[in-house]
Amino acid sequence: MSFTNKDRVPFFCPVCHSPQSTSLAADSYRRVQACDLCETYIYYLNKEKWNEGWRPSVREARRYLWQRNVSIYIPQEDKTDDGSGNSESAWPAD
Ligand SMILES: [Zn+2]
Repeated sequence: MSFTNKDRVPFFCPVCHSPQSTSLAADSYRRVQACDLCETYIYYLNKEKWNEGWRPSVREARRYLWQRNVSIYIPQEDKTDDGSGNSESAWPAD
């Protein structure tokens, strides 16, 4: 089986930056390019915007998940991105 870019699932979800370690997350990534938590708690609530290319910033994504009491694992080195905005630059502005 050969893998195209679309099939290759990055280790970290591009939206919330938590590790996509489960096959559930991989399935979600192939559908919406985000992990299963982002698909459930962000994609489905913002389907139209999402399909137009909108993505929340990493901080917004985590806020979405936290507000729904979803505990996500945040890699240690990723906690320093508050305020810098660097990790958010990959997404187009609204
Ligand atoms: Zn995610």
